[in-house]
Amino acid sequence: MSGSFGLLEPGQSSRFPAERLVELRSQVDLKQVNRGRNGGRRPAHDPDILIDGIRVRIVRDQRNRRWFACPRCARGCRILYRDPEFVVACRLCCKLEYSSRHLYRSLPSLHRVIRLRRQLGIDPRPFTAIPKPKQRLELRWRRVVARILVEEQVLRGHLQKINRDLDRRARVRGWCET
Ligand SMILES: [Zn+2]
Repeated sequence: MSGSFGLLEPGQSSRFPAERLVELRSQVDLKQVNRGRNGGRRPAHDPDILIDGIRVRIVRDQRNRRWFACPRCARGCRILYRDPEFVVACRLCCKLEYSSRHLYRSLPSLHRVIRLRRQLGIDPRPFTAIPKPKQRLELRWRRVVARILVEEQVLRGHLQKINRDLDRRARVRGWCET
């Protein structure tokens, strides 16, 4: 699968703002919420949960899978994103896009991390786990991993800056206590 699919279509900005990238946004995964609850037993009904002070409903689909109901649009989703305007909401409400839809001249480290990770055939998302190499590939693997770690360090700097900006905006608007 090519990561550059659709990149050159008209209207695809190469300067898509970094704060609108899924990969750089703080998120809450339903899997984290599930972990360790009820010792694996299914409750009679799913209680609402609080995320950053916002009450979030848990809903089930016809196959009995659990989903967050987006607090804003009620759409079922597995991941909610922290947002300066809505506190937490689904990807569509936050108007987030996956980085693979855009060129990142303004954020070249992200582009390089994704490309290097694809070279190894591993999860292209920054900061996700890097598995151990197969023995015969070990030397090349370690070289590429070293480059990934350097680029992710650069990216972490961008991420921290964006999070600081989001925190500051949230504080200014009185959404968090600290
Ligand atoms: Zn939504």
